[in-house]
Amino acid sequence: MSPERLIATSVLVIGTGGSGLRAAIELAERGRDVLAVGKRPKADSHTSLAAGGINAALATVDGEDTWQQHAADTLQESYLLANPRTVQIVTEGASRAIEELERYGMPFAREQDGRISQRYFGAHTFRRTAFAGDYTGLEIQRTLVNRARLLQVPILDTIYITRLLVRDNVAFGAYGFDLFDGTRYVIHADSVILAAGGHTRIWRHTSSRRDENTGDSFRLAVEAGGRIRDPELVQFHPSGLIEPENAAGTLVSEAARGEGGILRNGVGERFMARYDPERMELSTRDRVALATYTEIMEGRGTPNGGVWLDVSHLPSETIMQRLPRVYQTLLELQMLDITKTPVEVAPTAHYSMGGVWTDPEDYGTGIEGLYAIGEASSGLHGANRLGGNSLIELLVAGRIAGEAAAAYSAQLTAQQRSAAALAEARSQVDEPLAADGSENVRALQRAIRNTMTEHAGVVRDEAGLLAALAQLDVIEARMADLGVHPDAAGFHDLAHAFDLKSAALAARATLEAALERRETRGSHNRSDYPELDAALRVNLVWAGPGRLAREEIPATPDGIAALMHDVSTAGKLIE
Ligand SMILES: Cc1cc2nc3c(=O)[nH]c(=O)nc-3n(C[C@H](O)[C@H](O)[C@H](O)COP(=O)(O)OP(=O)(O)OC[C@H]3O[C@@H](n4cnc5c(N)ncnc54)[C@H](O)[C@@H]3O)c2cc1C
Repeated sequence: MSPERLIATSVLVIGTGGSGLRAAIELAERGRDVLAVGKRPKADSHTSLAAGGINAALATVDGEDTWQQHAADTLQESYLLANPRTVQIVTEGASRAIEELERYGMPFAREQDGRISQRYFGAHTFRRTAFAGDYTGLEIQRTLVNRARLLQVPILDTIYITRLLVRDNVAFGAYGFDLFDGTRYVIHADSVILAAGGHTRIWRHTSSRRDENTGDSFRLAVEAGGRIRDPELVQFHPSGLIEPENAAGTLVSEAARGEGGILRNGVGERFMARYDPERMELSTRDRVALATYTEIMEGRGTPNGGVWLDVSHLPSETIMQRLPRVYQTLLELQMLDITKTPVEVAPTAHYSMGGVWTDPEDYGTGIEGLYAIGEASSGLHGANRLGGNSLIELLVAGRIAGEAAAAYSAQLTAQQRSAAALAEARSQVDEPLAADGSENVRALQRAIRNTMTEHAGVVRDEAGLLAALAQLDVIEARMADLGVHPDAAGFHDLAHAFDLKSAALAARATLEAALERRETRGSHNRSDYPELDAALRVNLVWAGPGRLAREEIPATPDGIAALMHDVSTAGKLIE
């Protein structure tokens, strides 16, 4: 066995994206001992990909905006599956979160008189999305990394967490290994904040990067005794690249349609005329994703199973000025010049709206001392996420969970530990290394992604979901015979084996909940149940294979319910 290091801290934060860093900053500002770990460099977490913006009812541009209206818009867009209390806490806390970010040095775009600029994004009643060019997430990540550095927050960038350490439903740390030299880590902590992202990488096309969003938060929480809320609710973005394979799903910004881009199927038809003849390509994200998916599945796709997105009729100055990132991305990834040639795109898994079950008040998970935040958590988005709401959630939830973990740690009189829990964590890492089986990790990852794409993508039905579960049984059986081979480059193969375990668990949770949600609501389209079912205005909470429960959603406060209305998304695109 590789050497093992023992570390102790007050609070362990797993994940160094926006939510994990914000929590770590809160703890450091409160003078608490904190350690943050991630499986990829902090400067390059998924958060840095976010482009469009971050929401708060600052009313800098539209003076009538209020947090109550932001809450109402969020609930409306969630198809009433969001938790009203979570929505209230995030929207009410949003202005403070932006002020804190400003204090840390965030370079927001501003009006001439210095006010933070705000623009329309998706189904918002008012302009409330603050931004920094089309690289808002990157600037947020940089700002948080700088603040954490100033506060001397220790961050380990190469630690893969394999298991949470829990005794009698009380968390006391985590176990993991170093991705490069294989050193094992036992990290003892009073409490743990899980900020390890979502599960969108279990589909073939995803807007996150390779080896991110593999469902680690889901597996870590469930193996610790936690639960997953609404794993079936996943937002698909209409336009992700198909090639090259290792960048499949990379977004082509919706701005390409916003600027006049045209969608055509494999036989040259401008197919949106069939689905939304008035708005055509400016239809809503879910409708465009559904239309595109239908064209592909009904055999009218392009040779590689997509549709064409064409901006070549636009003046090249428009493309250079308004779509520079799209132009650059296509040149870099495909050597394709969008001023001359259409791009092949397909729907891509973009955001996990469900996630680890969390309490709205403190982001606790039901396991004492364990909190979950960011895309790993659940409660804010329901069946459809309002564009720009994820980034604000990272900051509000990070602060609240940081506060809660600090308070929990302060009142603790003794830390529970368990030799048995530690032994189990150790053997979970020893086993794949010793097995020397014949199955290839990457091939099985691909098998899961194919299964999920074929049967649990934009449109689902009972027969497909059952077929997917049967395929998953076979894949899981093959996973018992894995070959894992650390090499001179490090222990990445071992990490991929754990990614695979997480993906299998996240896939099962998603399929079982998708089967149970016999209705069409928001992002969840069941072709065999095309209508919304009022009786299914519940959250589905998954605690392990075959263990799915319905959870009532608290009533929406009257003051907020009165503000809810259908908001036009015409001309307002969401990223
Ligand atoms: C292309 C794109 C554009 C987007 N645009 C917007 C936008 O404009 N507005 C908006 O609000 N949202 C947007 N989003 C969504 C938003 O960016 C994400 O939801 C958010 O950044 C997630 O942050 P996070 O802190 O939860 O997790 P992440 O940033 O995903 O970080 C997860 C962290 O967990 C670590 N980790 C994972 N597993 C392990 C493990 N086993 N052991 C150790 N560490 C682990 C990773 O290394 C990483 O540090 C966009 C997303 C994409 C992909």
